[in-house]
Amino acid sequence: MNFEFTEDQIQIRDMAREFAQNEIAPTAAQYDEKAEFPWPIIKKMAELNFLGMMIPEQYGGMDFDATTVTLVIEEISKADAACGVILAVQNSLGVSALVKHGSEELKKKYLPQLASGEKLCAFGLTEAGAGSDFSAMTTTAEDKGDHWLLNGRKTFITNGSTAEIFTIIAMTDKNKGARGMSAFVVEKSYPGFSVGTIEKKLGIRASDTTELILDNVKVPKENLIGKKGHGFIYAMQSLDTGRIGVGAQSLGIAQAAYEKALAYSKTRVQWGSPITKLQAIQFKFADMATRIEATKWLVYHAAYLRDNDKPFVKEASMAKVFSSEMATYVTHQAMQIMGGYGYMKEYDVERYYRDARITEIYEGTSEIQRHVIASLVIK
Ligand SMILES: Cc1cc2nc3c(=O)[nH]c(=O)nc-3n(C[C@H](O)[C@H](O)[C@H](O)COP(=O)(O)OP(=O)(O)OC[C@H]3O[C@@H](n4cnc5c(N)ncnc54)[C@H](O)[C@@H]3O)c2cc1C
Repeated sequence: MNFEFTEDQIQIRDMAREFAQNEIAPTAAQYDEKAEFPWPIIKKMAELNFLGMMIPEQYGGMDFDATTVTLVIEEISKADAACGVILAVQNSLGVSALVKHGSEELKKKYLPQLASGEKLCAFGLTEAGAGSDFSAMTTTAEDKGDHWLLNGRKTFITNGSTAEIFTIIAMTDKNKGARGMSAFVVEKSYPGFSVGTIEKKLGIRASDTTELILDNVKVPKENLIGKKGHGFIYAMQSLDTGRIGVGAQSLGIAQAAYEKALAYSKTRVQWGSPITKLQAIQFKFADMATRIEATKWLVYHAAYLRDNDKPFVKEASMAKVFSSEMATYVTHQAMQIMGGYGYMKEYDVERYYRDARITEIYEGTSEIQRHVIASLVIK
């Protein structure tokens, strides 16, 4: 067993850490307060080549392994979870199917624009009536001979108003359920494509979450990703990798909360001593540190398995459910340690507490993760 990261992984993680702490953390609360998309930061991330981390080098990307990407998302999320999810969607959900299954022509056309950060991408699967059960989707893609005609609405799409290139999952054969879904590259510029409601959210407020409207959108024939009828499989594969990314986001948020609470508790004097002298507070740190450590192994191990072409679906779901519930727990405890000050907006722990909550919901709720895990451990 080797528990060490490679020199390259450490170097990139350290670069991400320095950038995140110097360039993202100082303004994260302001972007959150205004619910403003952090374009200047995204542009800087593009300069650092963080927007095409899993795109092969021949298309201008960095071709990093999943472990490296995990470390980068963790560091960015530690400074701002909204930036973490924007980055995770750009590097994983939004582009995975295209990288893995797209034709050479599609990859040459779209991947360089994403790798350079010139354009952002997004992933449109969820609909108002099709969340956990996305086989209930009603968005259709009709074969019109020389093009596909897409109609429907997608809900809660990350990067929805800021992306220009979308992976959209739509029904090409309604009678076949999950086997009747296909994946398409859809450009924002196509007539009939528009952004609907921009959601107001509890956390990750600087990241945009929107509705997408597809009203008789003509999509070129060649924009079908991979094979017709394989959209469900491609979506599941994208989510499997994405769940490791949610693990990284959770780890970042939790560590940020832990560190803030620790620094605070060393200086907060009650009963004549810093509150770190109180055993009740010490035990909270012991529990928080233990859960953070356990999460690291689950998340890094899932990434390691993916990097080594070993089965990782179960481990990705385990990492996702454990890490997200850990982040909710740790941010809750961090706020408790900081008492009334932790509850105030002035202190970042209030934001971490709000940001942690989404990790239990998107890319498959905790209940869905338990379904996946149960199906793989009960034989
Ligand atoms: C901020 C945000 C960003 C998002 N980004 C994207 C994105 O970029 N692209 C995208 O396609 N989607 C995105 N989503 C959608 C997200 O993945 C879904 O919200 C999520 O999968 C849950 O679906 P739902 O909200 O419809 O809840 P529902 O499926 O209606 O679930 C409601 C409740 O029922 C439970 N439940 C459902 N089915 C079962 C079951 N079989 N067994 C036990 N319990 C069950 C759920 O766990 C949950 O507790 C985003 C959502 C949010 C909030």
